[in-house]
Amino acid sequence: MLVDVALPIPLPRTFAYRVPERVPDGTRVRVPFSGRKLVGWVVGESGTARELTRVRDVDRVLEETPSVSPDVLALCRWIADYYVTPLGMVLRGALPAVLSDTVRDRGPGKTRRVLRIVGELPTLTLRDETFGRAARQRECYELLEATGGKADLDHLTGALGFSASVLNGLLEKGLVEAGDERTQRDPFADIEVPVPVQHSPTEAQSAALEVLIAASRPSAHAPPLPRSTAHLLHGVTGSGKTLVYIELLREVVVRQGRGAIVLVPEIALTPQTVSRFRAEFGDVVAVLHSALSDGERYDAWRSLHEGTRRIAIGARSAIFAPVRDLGAIIVDEEHEASYKQSEAPRYHAREVAVVRAGMAGATCVLGSATPALESWHNARTGKYRLLRLPERVEGRPLPPVEIVDLRGEREAGDAAPVPRRGPLILSDRLIDEINERLPRREQCILLLNRRGYATFVQCRACGNVWHCEQCNVSLTFHRGRSRLVCHYCLHEEAPPVSCTECSSTDLAFRGIGTEQVEREVGELFPHARIARMDVDTTSAKWSHHDILERVGDGGVDILLGTQMIAKGLDFPNVTLVGVINADVAMNLPDFRASERTFQLLTQVAGRAGRGPLGGLVLIQTALPRHYAIQAALHHDYDAFAERELEERLGPGYPPHTRLVNTVISGTDENTVQDAAHASADWVLALLNDHHAQGTVLLTGPAPCPIDRIRGRWRWHFLLRSRSAGALGATCRQLQMKYELKPGRADLRLIVDRDPVSLL
Ligand code: ADP
Ligand code: ZN
Ligand code: ZN
Repeated sequence: MLVDVALPIPLPRTFAYRVPERVPDGTRVRVPFSGRKLVGWVVGESGTARELTRVRDVDRVLEETPSVSPDVLALCRWIADYYVTPLGMVLRGALPAVLSDTVRDRGPGKTRRVLRIVGELPTLTLRDETFGRAARQRECYELLEATGGKADLDHLTGALGFSASVLNGLLEKGLVEAGDERTQRDPFADIEVPVPVQHSPTEAQSAALEVLIAASRPSAHAPPLPRSTAHLLHGVTGSGKTLVYIELLREVVVRQGRGAIVLVPEIALTPQTVSRFRAEFGDVVAVLHSALSDGERYDAWRSLHEGTRRIAIGARSAIFAPVRDLGAIIVDEEHEASYKQSEAPRYHAREVAVVRAGMAGATCVLGSATPALESWHNARTGKYRLLRLPERVEGRPLPPVEIVDLRGEREAGDAAPVPRRGPLILSDRLIDEINERLPRREQCILLLNRRGYATFVQCRACGNVWHCEQCNVSLTFHRGRSRLVCHYCLHEEAPPVSCTECSSTDLAFRGIGTEQVEREVGELFPHARIARMDVDTTSAKWSHHDILERVGDGGVDILLGTQMIAKGLDFPNVTLVGVINADVAMNLPDFRASERTFQLLTQVAGRAGRGPLGGLVLIQTALPRHYAIQAALHHDYDAFAERELEERLGPGYPPHTRLVNTVISGTDENTVQDAAHASADWVLALLNDHHAQGTVLLTGPAPCPIDRIRGRWRWHFLLRSRSAGALGATCRQLQMKYELKPGRADLRLIVDRDPVSLL
């Protein structure tokens, strides 16, 4: 018989193969495909009577029970359709890597051989040995450290290319040991889980819970699978949203015996939230962490698939967790941009959550202190049900927020195009407030959403700014490493000593980054214990955890960092939050710039005064009257939302319309420009043919705000419509019928539906 097989390749169709006997949908198979073997999924019987001679046999049926259950398959079909992505690519993204891995095909669940660290690396000895082998040993050891103390032996010798003699050297020195591993390993198992404190819910928490619990109980009169509505839980920072999630899960998982999914923006940044769930529900929780090895990920996935664990907690991709009898989906910090995947399938996990909950008849909760305007709009128009926690728990006030006007603090000379004086980093006001708190052992958080030391290098004589050769962005100076770094392609080079244009040696390192703040703070407060948290200080596996643990234990006086430190942290001893420069994101050429700014300020302000000591927030800005900053000043989400909705009405941006960003990129500037015009014209003709010019609007084409990344030129055009259906149909036509000739410029077309960034 013939079946349709979805393959993880970028072709928008499935392929017919012959199987000896009926195979259920969702079963993994290996098939021959243009000279290769690929792993794909049976997604249905092949209806068409194609020329049987040309249909090839399935090479092997890889499993007895399908790895993709009917509900996950249905969800993937929806994603493939909505985000115009081939079903096979969606399925690949939905499953642990070992299940779509063609090359290794190492049967999941098998024993694997690992190398584990057992000894301390004697820093001096290995560093002093100059032989190549010792250097490789050191490299290998450090890699093990970075991956949590152990790694797959196959992976080390295979993909990473460490030779047997390097590994033997480490074994002989007693630094590592080899061993077998099979048992389910939960990397969170070693982390101490606090004994949960039972609070009795506040009135607002009870009211929200009443609605949610009623929604989760299948009513006697309704059809068996009621189409659930999503709930938007708008709770100010410190209002106790986690308690609401936990009590809902107690009902759904413990009382009703069903399963649940909890999405968090990033596991490493939300250890407190994750450990609350683990403390409450113990062994039924599977934490899907990005630092899991392929094997560990598969173990966690299998425990959910088999039903031994019933709650999946994880970032974006946990929305595909094979949870059985799904009763609830929670999306914490639902406004976070990290819920959107930046490569195909370009799905938004919040939207997928609402759809999956709808399909399963599960209760869906989207929680945030600063809901995305799209969610707010849905709550306003009745598509979602709005639940509110307007106050902090135990009658604690939201912290007073004050503005430090940077315009007043600037010296007159600073107005020159390339000022000679260094920029102001901490105002006197901020310094005074920190000085007051240090002797009282209260903690301070300082936010600057820009990493590195200086965000660009400029020649004082001619104004030349150093740019990446491959990307149209300025290079950031990293002082610790003494390198200029491109934050888009990671290209690095030595910092310049003279100008490439005019040979002047008078160079300015401009634009403050977190590294510079750290240095300034260190000089101003020499006795303070300072921790910096940004991408550069957290590349090792447990570094987030270590930093946050030190803050929690009182071992840090001043925590400074990028937006990483603005996420759900709950440290009652933090009594001051300082924003070094609130305007960083404001001037980005993106219609969400104000929303991002408001969210970041409100979230970071929410870290202050969560304990009985109270707190204060100081925002340094040169735009004190901007409505996003004014709304943050008054903790007024509603005012912000109202004004922002108005601002977006004229230009017709979401949530008033649905948006698609179509990006054409390639290695030759002119070819890309021509291709962008040609594809836009093609879409216009298509709309014309369907009399849809008034329904779907096309803007552009124009160069993208960042018009070159990794050597590829980028142009885009926007499609907008009030009708999701019309927009979807247009995207599908474009994806399936429009032929972009890749040619020598290696042209590519990306259709990004509901984009979170237009850069
Ligand atoms: P949010 O996520 O809304 O910012 P959290 O869920 O982190 O807030 O809760 C903030 C703090 O309030 C936590 O330390 C939590 O233990 C505490 N808390 C939650 N609910 C209550 C309550 N009903 N009574 C007292 N304290 C509570
Ligand atoms: Zn110059
Ligand atoms: Zn670059």
